Amino acid sequence: MTEKSYLDISENYKRIAENIEKAKLKAGRSDEVRIMAVTKTVGARAVNAAVSCGIRLLGENRVQEFLQKRGDYPDDCEVHFIGGLQSNKVRQIIGMVSLIQSVDGVKLAEEINRRAALKNLVADVLTEVNIAGETTKRGVDPGGELDELVGRIRALPNLRLRGIMVIPPFDGGAAYFGRTQKLFEDMKPKAGSGFFDTLSMGMSGDYEDAVLYGSNMVRLGTALFGYR
Ligand SMILES: *Cc1c(COP(=O)(O)O)cnc(C)c1O
Repeated sequence: MTEKSYLDISENYKRIAENIEKAKLKAGRSDEVRIMAVTKTVGARAVNAAVSCGIRLLGENRVQEFLQKRGDYPDDCEVHFIGGLQSNKVRQIIGMVSLIQSVDGVKLAEEINRRAALKNLVADVLTEVNIAGETTKRGVDPGGELDELVGRIRALPNLRLRGIMVIPPFDGGAAYFGRTQKLFEDMKPKAGSGFFDTLSMGMSGDYEDAVLYGSNMVRLGTALFGYR
């Protein structure tokens, strides 16, 4: 990585942080919005550049890539798994990531619980919701499927449900953000623990809008690292 691209990441970060502050102001918010650096296809030096900007939250979306790169991550970084996860791969990442954001079915939840129990730990998870019912996307539908999944997770002793992750339609506008915000608020009492605190919503193209609608975790790849 050249000196220039390092400066780019730092400039990008500053601009993102400013944009988030503006959106928070507009929404009358004073709570924290965490910035996740999505590090898929991004090399260790660029990741370190993001870390030197102050980012401590990283997101990986492929098991193989995570396993290859995890030795390079600074110790004080929290890494979340954000990609599609097959049940048979849970074993490879359990206990190595701080949180799995992409829980999209009862079977996967049960396997995470089982593997967490074997390691004597409690795994933090988000449920991934397919808010617009897009056939091309993962996630449970926001109605009965989500209720069923949340109910099941509540009953699993080695899982802790922390919130919702969503990837709204690319050009969906604000409607889906508003809907997800409401879903998150409605879900809170049903989640049954004091830990339901994370609305992971907003990517490079729409994170400012997401912050207007209550997102408290934005997942940024391109906006931070440039085009892949
Ligand atoms: C790649 C990815 C992102 C980041 O996408 P950008 O548009 O590059 O910011 C966020 N969330 C998930 C689940 C991803 O796979």
